[in-house]
Amino acid sequence: MKNLHNALLLKQLYQLKNLGYRYTDERPYSHEEKNLLELPNSLQALKQQAKNCHLCSLSKGRNHVVFGEGNKQADIMFIGDVPLEIEDNAGAIFLGRGGEMLTAMIEKVLNLSREQVYITNLLKCHPLLSKEVHESEFHTCKAYLFKEIKLVKPKVIVTLGERAYHYLTNDFTALKEVRGRVIQKEGYSVVPTYHPNFLLKNPSFKREVFLDLKRVKKLL
Ligand code: SF4
Repeated sequence: MKNLHNALLLKQLYQLKNLGYRYTDERPYSHEEKNLLELPNSLQALKQQAKNCHLCSLSKGRNHVVFGEGNKQADIMFIGDVPLEIEDNAGAIFLGRGGEMLTAMIEKVLNLSREQVYITNLLKCHPLLSKEVHESEFHTCKAYLFKEIKLVKPKVIVTLGERAYHYLTNDFTALKEVRGRVIQKEGYSVVPTYHPNFLLKNPSFKREVFLDLKRVKKLL
């Protein structure tokens, strides 16, 4: 509830900032507004809520909400950043060549099937109209991500790409500096690595990702 409250508050503050406000005494959302701020306690209901979400401007251009998929009690959760157009059209996560690359990483290095892990994104909607995603949209949508983490309770979270690491941890250190480390958070470990779409363009980084996934195996 706290995350959604913060997301709503941030959204309102960004709106006020865009209108030219530098300071405000407004208190738009109160902790007492339970119905507005409560997120459901099952992944199915959370997905349903996201499907009807209009908390940020990305809802205007989406065809489908692309929610997380996989094992609801997975030990490993992969977090990417933004759904692609192909995923927006299909309403399913990590499709295309990037999806195939992720599946290969899971199967060949972790010796697991895609169905045994949980895969999600920071954002649930594809930024069709506004190509550049504003940081407020990441912060707003994070409420869903944190609830997914709370419900799945993974032991290890693999962040795919810099934005996934930054917005999950609020640590804005460059990925190349944190990659190779395991960051301990309350209840789970974070292993930052490269995004499969980055690997498609930069195959020489596959070795680093291989080592990161070996690190994940050791943690389990
Ligand atoms: S991106 Fe997230 S916060 Fe924005 S409309 Fe979609 S589900 Fe809601």
